[in-house]
Amino acid sequence: MEHLLEKTAEKELTALLEQHIKNTKIENIMKERRLCDHCLGRLFARVGYGVDNTTRGRLIREHFDYSSEISEKCWLCSDLFNEVEKFSEMIVEKLNDWEFNNFLIGCRIDIEIVEREESLWSEAAVEQFEPIKSEINREVGKLVEKRVGKEVNFERPEVVATIDTRYDDVEIQVAPLFIYGRYLKKIRGIPQTKWTCKHCLGKGCELCNHTGKMYAESVEELIAKEVMEITMGKGHSFHGMGREDIDAKMLGNGRPFIIEIKTPIKRNIDYTSIQKRINRSAEGKVEVMELRSSDRREVVAIKSVRCQKTYSVLVELGKKVNKEKLNEVVKAFKGKEIAQQTPLRVVHRRADKRRKRRILDIKAELTEMENEAELIITAEAGTYIKEFVHGDEGRTRPSLAEGLGMKCEVKRLDVIKIHEE
Ligand SMILES: [Zn+2]
Ligand SMILES: [Zn+2]
Repeated sequence: MEHLLEKTAEKELTALLEQHIKNTKIENIMKERRLCDHCLGRLFARVGYGVDNTTRGRLIREHFDYSSEISEKCWLCSDLFNEVEKFSEMIVEKLNDWEFNNFLIGCRIDIEIVEREESLWSEAAVEQFEPIKSEINREVGKLVEKRVGKEVNFERPEVVATIDTRYDDVEIQVAPLFIYGRYLKKIRGIPQTKWTCKHCLGKGCELCNHTGKMYAESVEELIAKEVMEITMGKGHSFHGMGREDIDAKMLGNGRPFIIEIKTPIKRNIDYTSIQKRINRSAEGKVEVMELRSSDRREVVAIKSVRCQKTYSVLVELGKKVNKEKLNEVVKAFKGKEIAQQTPLRVVHRRADKRRKRRILDIKAELTEMENEAELIITAEAGTYIKEFVHGDEGRTRPSLAEGLGMKCEVKRLDVIKIHEE
């Protein structure tokens, strides 16, 4: 049955090829140069479906009644296709070093072959051709698929093996691994990402205790330490959905992040166990949850999301204030738009401009201490909460300090919820 189907397809293909051949100069070319079945068939690669170029080549040869004399090497490729088997073996051996679920083959080919091929296209007046590179990639790919039991992936391959056919050299490129999660930062005083020492720019000096860093630890490093051990990657970058101040905790439902591992050797990881390992080693400092696989597209998405946040803020008040007065002032801010000039604490590194932000919800309660209140504030993305509280020397207006008519100082600030739509 299978045989019959093939026969019919071949007949049809022969008819199609005959139509195309008519308008070309292929017969003249065949008289003076030997082309292997790959190179001959590839000139008509887009004629018919589901067959390889050697079949096309053979049918064309049969049509013109040319035997495939093998005394001479192929004028175009010098019998490069005889090496496809060897290339696939070399690639499989190199791929042994990596864990992957799909792959892609690339190749570098002698420029002289490429030039001969391009000149042949015009000389033979063919239009249905395919470049030699794509046939080499496909043929090698098929063999590698068989040997490793994994499929070629054109969209997002985990590894790309590029063979240099001139020097029999294989180069492997490994796609980064992206892991999504949410983190809690349970202590103050650590930044989200690694901060290079300003004084020595990372070389190590007395000021940074020869670490090259401004802070000994960061959320990124606490998470990356375990991930790097498991994936055996060469480096990492951390992409957070925004960031909190160094002196703020990140609580509640946590902050979404993606950690990108460069050149991982292992990529089929168990997210539950990696989560446990991180949470054990970073205990009391950082906790992660909802770990799962991710990709570069999600990194872009996470970086562009602007979401509302809810904060818990402990404020020291300049004077004693009664409950009623505090509630009255606070209530007036609910839903109110405030204007913020870039804060003094960041104006040295950011453009000095005015932005409008809305306080969406705000509640306040006096604590047991004198002159102290705890506020729960939900605000639009990008609101400077500290400045809303103390007024930043009049750069944020109106502010809580202005409303109460007294000095207000932020004693601590935590993020307690990130609102994703
Ligand atoms: Zn050839
Ligand atoms: Zn330093």
